[in-house]
Amino acid sequence: MQPVIYLDNNATTRVAPEVVDAMRPYFEELYFNPSSIYEPARVVHSAMEEARKTVARSLGGIRPDEVLFTGCATESNNTAIFGTVNANPARKHVITTAVEHPAIYEVGKELQRRGLDVDFIPVDKQGQLDMAAFVRVLRPDTLMVSLMHANNETGVIFPIADVARIIKETNPSIVVHTDATQTAGKLPLDLRGSLKHVDLLSFSGHKLHAPKGVGALYVRRGTPCRPFLIGGHQEEGRRAGTENVALIVGLARALELAAENHDEVEERVRQLRDRLESELVARIPFVQVNGGEAVRLSNTLNLAIHLIEGEGMLYQLSADGICASSGSACTSGSLEPSHVLRAMQIPFTAVHGSVRFSLSRYTTADEIDRVIEVFPTIVANLRRLSPYWDVERNAPRAEAIELMQPPES
Ligand code: PLP
Repeated sequence: MQPVIYLDNNATTRVAPEVVDAMRPYFEELYFNPSSIYEPARVVHSAMEEARKTVARSLGGIRPDEVLFTGCATESNNTAIFGTVNANPARKHVITTAVEHPAIYEVGKELQRRGLDVDFIPVDKQGQLDMAAFVRVLRPDTLMVSLMHANNETGVIFPIADVARIIKETNPSIVVHTDATQTAGKLPLDLRGSLKHVDLLSFSGHKLHAPKGVGALYVRRGTPCRPFLIGGHQEEGRRAGTENVALIVGLARALELAAENHDEVEERVRQLRDRLESELVARIPFVQVNGGEAVRLSNTLNLAIHLIEGEGMLYQLSADGICASSGSACTSGSLEPSHVLRAMQIPFTAVHGSVRFSLSRYTTADEIDRVIEVFPTIVANLRRLSPYWDVERNAPRAEAIELMQPPES
């Protein structure tokens, strides 16, 4: 097999070798149930509580008992929303956005089916939150607001700290939740500082070089939130099910690693992403950067490539050993254009032709060079097959030009 160039780190990440080392004893000799009372099990229990303290420290020094371990960010999000709704049956209004990951977006749709009022706030053409619309929909009976911290498809960052402050100034009883799955390990999450108005925060391990199958939910002390999984007494009765200690230890270790040399790593990743972006934009005609004028994660590049099929590009990239994505991991594989890009009003000629490259601290300059070398040719070859492409002029046909209206900033 040819070497893999992995540029799909917003879908999942490689587990860091240091994380594997930290977890290994809990798969091998320290396999005991952390709730059992014999001595070896108490050792396992302490390791889990140490991991909880580490997670709490990395979230700005919150209390360890404000951290719930879950199985993934989807579970954390479901717990946050259903837990809040079930704890407050009298209040029926929930606000979220039109660009959330399905782990929030589909929960919002489910709440509507259950008779709640859910507002999905629009974004502008750069994927930025429409603040005016947001303030307009706040109501006296609004129960909760759930906004993602950064978008998984475009990397666009929402100003969560400001939004949470505005919400609490308007009505301190509104519960503020943020899905920080794409920012944990990438941006500071200071729940005692800039994010002090956030009540609930979700993320999962596998986006930050810990394994799949572990997530966390911050629940500010005193926030009413009913358990989502009911059964045993684990996590103080707030999330039943035997804790996966090995993975929890791995999650804590991954957060520690992310904090080490954070600024240096972020800068290196940003430079690689920026080079990829500027070279591809220079070499490929009729291309735009989705969310390119917004504040974005340093690792994410989402390109709208006019007059081409996203799936075709992914297959051709894959033939060259390059792993990328055409939208969120959950929507790739379907031919439906992504709800995120539709909400951003990406022109018809590009909405099917978007490709996301997401880098990590393991991405190398040689890998980026290889993508810069092969991707423009892939695009040119595929365009020759497009009925909208004029092969002789190497340009879009007249009817396609009409459909191709680049978003205004
Ligand atoms: N929220 C966001 C913003 C995501 O990007 C993802 C995964 O892509 C999820 C939630 C779901 O994460 P998990 O796979 O851990 O359930």
